[in-house]
Amino acid sequence: MQAVESNIVSYAKVGADARTAADTGDRIEWIKLSLTYLPLATPVSDAKVLTGRQKPLTEIAFIFAEIRTRDGHEGIGFGYSKRAGGPGMYAHAKELAPNLIGEDPNDISRLFTKLLWAGASMGRSGLTTQAIAPFDIALWDMKAKRAGLPLAKLLGAQRDSVQCYNTSGGYLHTPLDQVLKNVAISRESGIGGIKLKVGQPDLSIDIERVRAVRKLLGDGFPLMVDANQQWDRQKATRACRAFEEFDLTWIEEPLDAHDFEGHGQLAERFDTAIATGEMLTSFDEHAQLILAGTDFIQPDAPRVGGITPFLKIMALGEFKQRKLAPHFAMEIHLHLAAAYGIEPWLEHFEWLGPLFNEQMHLKDGRMYVSDRPGLGFTLSEQARRWTPDTEEFGKRP
Ligand SMILES: [Mg+2]
Repeated sequence: MQAVESNIVSYAKVGADARTAADTGDRIEWIKLSLTYLPLATPVSDAKVLTGRQKPLTEIAFIFAEIRTRDGHEGIGFGYSKRAGGPGMYAHAKELAPNLIGEDPNDISRLFTKLLWAGASMGRSGLTTQAIAPFDIALWDMKAKRAGLPLAKLLGAQRDSVQCYNTSGGYLHTPLDQVLKNVAISRESGIGGIKLKVGQPDLSIDIERVRAVRKLLGDGFPLMVDANQQWDRQKATRACRAFEEFDLTWIEEPLDAHDFEGHGQLAERFDTAIATGEMLTSFDEHAQLILAGTDFIQPDAPRVGGITPFLKIMALGEFKQRKLAPHFAMEIHLHLAAAYGIEPWLEHFEWLGPLFNEQMHLKDGRMYVSDRPGLGFTLSEQARRWTPDTEEFGKRP
């Protein structure tokens, strides 16, 4: 009887003294948002330009979020928009930022939900999620830095490098002889795969260009094509059939980005893999695509709202045995692809290089995760010069 009583006394004593993680947790004290315009050396065109739906791309708008905490931890993340939308995302991000001041930076899922509710009347995809992404990505960067680990390692890496392809040489505005020169240069530089834009009004021109590039590369070298959503189901079927002989790694966006059923049917029907998903802006949309069936999913962390929803897409994608080839922003996606359970592909774009002080490490067709903690990049002076507007929240530590 005596022993039981003493146990009760000591338990009560510990309870009175105990401090919880919420009591001792760090707090977000300062956020800086920047609107940055990255100019492109040459305006680029894909099939959306040829069909008159969009103008050539001349610059990309970036929204950077830099976050600091009471205990001195820092994180950086970004979202982006091609053509319209950058100033709108920036305006919404400025409305969201005060919701994070005073919050525990480690409660990333809760903060993602909080920001989603803050903009709930705008919906749960599109600009709403894309304006959340810079914050969410900055908080994951901070968490990995706090652990002293590259983000890939924090997430539980499956590999230290990811096979890597580019599209640099193969836009629709580029004449075929120049495409062949660009492809040769890319291969020399150590790229692991080449993607060509297709979707010309005349399919025979696409076939001629793909045939010439396949001949240059030889059998077996990974080659993909991207139609940027410009075919209907009939034309896509015809194109997929014509492309079967080229042993392509995938055919990207043969259909409208939201025709999940159509992409699933093409994936069923042809041996060549079908890839899509870059235009989707939430976990929910990706879940519909994954369940409808495609071979490769191509989520984009800045577009879906950050790393928090991206991790859910990865979990569902693995469960349904989808392959992964994230869209754009390799600086972020290298870490995520490195943690995927099925061998992924990484999309290489040199465009973002001038924004950061650090270089990415490409060797023998693969991009390597660096030993720098977090995402492993810092903003360059050049990026600051391309920034016409910034706004700060909270008090600078
Ligand atoms: Mg694409």
